[in-house]
This record gives sequence, C-alpha cells and structure tokens, in this order.
Amino acid sequence: MTARHHPSDETLMAWAAGTFPAGPRLVVAIHLDGCRRCRDTVAGFEAIGGALLEAAEPAPMATGAFDALMARIDAENAAPEASTGNRTPIRPTVSNVPTTPDGLALPPRLAHHTVGRWRSLGRALSWSRVEVAGAPDANVILLRIPAAGAAPRHGHTGREFTQVLVGGFTDGRDAYVAGDFDEADETVDHRPLVDVDGECICVAAVEGRLRIHGIGRLLQPFVGL
Ligand SMILES: [Zn+2]
Repeated sequence: MTARHHPSDETLMAWAAGTFPAGPRLVVAIHLDGCRRCRDTVAGFEAIGGALLEAAEPAPMATGAFDALMARIDAENAAPEASTGNRTPIRPTVSNVPTTPDGLALPPRLAHHTVGRWRSLGRALSWSRVEVAGAPDANVILLRIPAAGAAPRHGHTGREFTQVLVGGFTDGRDAYVAGDFDEADETVDHRPLVDVDGECICVAAVEGRLRIHGIGRLLQPFVGL
C-alpha cells in the first residue's frame, strides 16, 4: 500500500537540512523508511543543499564536526528498511526487531531507543513513552486505541507529527492508514476515531502540550502528556 499522507515539503526540507529536533526527526525517519516518494524528495533537497554548499565560500570546520557527521550517518544507516502499509496485527517478537515490553514488534528505526510499558488514558487509549537516545527532552509516544475506539478530543500548543503503524483512523479532516503521516499544529483540534476493523497504533512526536478536552482533561496531570 502506498501512503496517501506524507510530511510537508517544509518538514522534508528541514529533515534534509538536519535542522529538525530529535523527536520529530525520529518520526519522519520512520515514515521515510517506508516511503520511497519522500526519500526521493529528501534526496532532491539534499542535492540542492549540496550544490549551495559547493557554491559557498569555504569555512573552517568546527572541531569534531566531521566525527559527529559520520556518527550520524552510521546511526541512520543502521536501521534496515521497514515494511509498512498492511493491516496484519503486529507480530510477537522476532530476533532483532524492537518490541514493546509486552512483545509487539515495532519499526526497526526504534531499535536504538527505549520503549516503556503501556499506560492507560481513559478506557480506550493506551500510550507508551519512547525515550529517544541522546535526546531526553524529546516527547515521543506510542498510541494504541482498539477498533472503533476514540482518542480524547484535543488541541495542541505546538506541532504534532504522527506516523500510523497499524490500522487506521479518521479525525474529521481525513482518513489515515498504516504508512500515513500526519502533521497537526495549534490550528488543529481533533478527535481521532479508530476504524471498526482493527486496533490502531501510531508513533507521535509532540511539541508543547496537548490540550485535552472532556473527561480526559482530568487525567492529563497524571500522565504528563
Ligand atoms: Zn511519504
């Protein structure tokens, strides 16, 4: 299945320039692993960036910059190609595949990060914190909602980047399925509603705080979302 919703050009350009913060960078990387179209777009932006650099006046390199660049390239080449875009349930552990503590397989890109146990927010929503290696302030979470379940209606104080891993949902703006990427910001107030034919699992990077409405708001201080 080919994704229908992709990161914006602005997001892919920031990715190519290496200026994206760690949390959103990780979620975009998971999308890129499964989306040739966006990888090609990034390659185009990188080619433009390279040409601009060649045209620029040479400047002395900061101490350690080359080592840092090579380390980053090594880290980003370490994650094998992910498969996305199917509705088969996440399978239990196979070797070398990162998993949640209860054994659900995750995108290979998450292999170098720590995934916490599932916690509940209300009856329908489970979430788990992804501790991003080297970026303790990154706010990345897995979200898991059963078939026909709904997330609390919420707004945002910053940007929210979401990659659908399993299943699908609608939120009044559009329908999103496994492989799709969604960007929301302060202007978006939505209530994701999961499709009736299976659970939905997403990975999201949240900047700022979610503004949860209704009963979920009362739980917010306890979960730190
Ligand atoms: Zn894409």
